[in-house]
Amino acid sequence: MLIDLRNLLSGAKDDMTVSAPLEMETFRTALAEYPVMEKQPVELVLTRTGKDKLHISGNGFVALEIPCDRCLEPVRTEMHFDIDKDIDMQETSGEIEDEEEKDYIDGYNLDVDKLVFGEILLLIPGKTLCKEDCKGLCLRCGANLNEGECGCDRESLDPRMSVFKDILNNFKEV
Ligand SMILES: [Zn+2]
Ligand SMILES: [Zn+2]
Repeated sequence: MLIDLRNLLSGAKDDMTVSAPLEMETFRTALAEYPVMEKQPVELVLTRTGKDKLHISGNGFVALEIPCDRCLEPVRTEMHFDIDKDIDMQETSGEIEDEEEKDYIDGYNLDVDKLVFGEILLLIPGKTLCKEDCKGLCLRCGANLNEGECGCDRESLDPRMSVFKDILNNFKEV
């Protein structure tokens, strides 16, 4: 959802309260794409704090479906996020390099999905497990070992392989 900021910036209003529905159906990063299982509108309070300056506060909720790192079963991952941003519209016009890229300001509009994207990205867990003791997949046949023993002889596999695999998983995504 785009929120038109002109009434705030012109001084016609000092603040705005908006319940902004999220449009995203999936959460897509450079490395992965997770279906959005549940989402709630983002409750935002926008306040004019000076000439061309705004403060945005708010909160929201999404649940993403993220595959288990070991067995790939989908895991419902709930994320509550808070938003607390100061915006200087003169910095978003592109002339000043800001440490944070404010791509959620588009002209005189606030793009709520883009704003929320950055917040969710910070909350994506580095490791996702369906349960602490997930047994993962058989390295030989790919069976989900949580559902039972497949009967493969895995003892003869180099045990260092599984350690190596965990290390890889830990570095897979930030
Ligand atoms: Zn699992
Ligand atoms: Zn097997």
